[in-house]
Amino acid sequence: MESANKESPEELNPYQIALQQLNRAAEIIHLDDGIHKMLKLPKRELTVNFPVKMDDGSIKVFTGYRVQHNMARGPAKGGVRYHPETSLDEVKALAMWMTWKCAVARIPYGGAKGGVICDPKILSKHELERLTRRYITEISVIIGPKSDIQAPDVYTDPQIMAWMMDTYSMHVGYSIPDVVTGKPLSIGGSEGRFEATGRGCVAVINEAVKLLKIGSSDQITVAIQGIGNVGGTTAKLLHSMNYKIIAISDSKGGIYNPYGLDIPAVLEYKRKNDVVEGFPGTEPVTNAELLELDCTVLVPAALQTQITVNNADKIKAKIVAEGANGPTTPVADKILTEKGILVIPDILANSGGVTVSYFEWVQDIQSFFWSENEVNKRLENIMGRSFDEVLSTAKKYNTDMRTSAYILAVSRVAEATLVRGIYP
Ligand code: NAD
Repeated sequence: MESANKESPEELNPYQIALQQLNRAAEIIHLDDGIHKMLKLPKRELTVNFPVKMDDGSIKVFTGYRVQHNMARGPAKGGVRYHPETSLDEVKALAMWMTWKCAVARIPYGGAKGGVICDPKILSKHELERLTRRYITEISVIIGPKSDIQAPDVYTDPQIMAWMMDTYSMHVGYSIPDVVTGKPLSIGGSEGRFEATGRGCVAVINEAVKLLKIGSSDQITVAIQGIGNVGGTTAKLLHSMNYKIIAISDSKGGIYNPYGLDIPAVLEYKRKNDVVEGFPGTEPVTNAELLELDCTVLVPAALQTQITVNNADKIKAKIVAEGANGPTTPVADKILTEKGILVIPDILANSGGVTVSYFEWVQDIQSFFWSENEVNKRLENIMGRSFDEVLSTAKKYNTDMRTSAYILAVSRVAEATLVRGIYP
């Protein structure tokens, strides 16, 4: 996976990073050694190699993964990523982060994640559909609405969720909408799910701005790395609240205007041209330069290991809100904290997605659907409660927000594991 610097001397393997973060919390809370050993390893990891017939008649073999990290607090939950550089270690890290995220939000789920090594940008729609249907068939031995629920992640969208739901349902013989969240509304999706991760991210940014008393939204500048589901929605909502978005990027590069970007026009430009670069009235910036811009709030919302030992001391933002999973390495984290930057960790900042996925699952089970207003209100309540709990734990332990989020999450998962007992 692309990082800020591939030559970096520090640990960049996401699973090793996830272990370091767990170990730090385990030490502080004096976690039982046996439970610690359990939590270091995923409960299940499945690798599947499967054929897909391409449009030209040839057969290609793809590799995919589904990892269930922990199910002590409920069924496993997590998105599926389609990316040429995904790997088992990346999926293991993402599954572990899902366990902690659900525990921070107090959602009754464990953590899981899936991934397929592929470049969806060069697959036709039919190839993507056949790949998705075969991947779900291969992993169907371990997934289900009560055991492991799928969702979108990088380069997977509501259409792909619909194919997943349909494939699983075809095997069973009737519709099982609750095996997948992030579906289109017409087949049991939830109002507000598409925007949920960005909306949750905005809720915690607002809390942090209040906490640091850094002025009204029109005085606050924001740089966002990524313009997908998370980055694009965060930009759109912050812009509608009068925050000044000065830079935004996609995988090819970014755009910058110190006076602020017209975000709805940028989103429309991206939709038409497939890139943000070239948007009128802006200067180009690289993804690396964007991170170091002079701004109040920085939102990494693309991929992991972007803020590393090599650029952490150049970050000028007062708040870093981690829309992406794992954008900051542990060494960089320490540097940011020493600089007095408030880092809102991924397992809090991007938990809005899994929160509304949980709402979608609850609505599917009941076949009773809520209004968008109701969904957004419940989401904002949970984001506010999580922010307050992480903040008060940080004060109690005199530590940073990431460590305190881990303290909360690991304690909750350990408690559930202990009270259930070790079978047999
Ligand atoms: P997406 O596919 O909708 O968008 C990904 C964005 O990242 C795109 O703008 C793409 O151009 C950009 N990008 C890709 N490679 C890049 C690179 N090398 N440098 C800079 N930008 C690059 O994906 P998404 O759902 O928005 O996910 C983004 C991040 O948020 C991921 O880390 C994901 O795990 C995390 N996340 C997503 C959700 C969700 O509900 N979708 C929930 C929680 C966390």
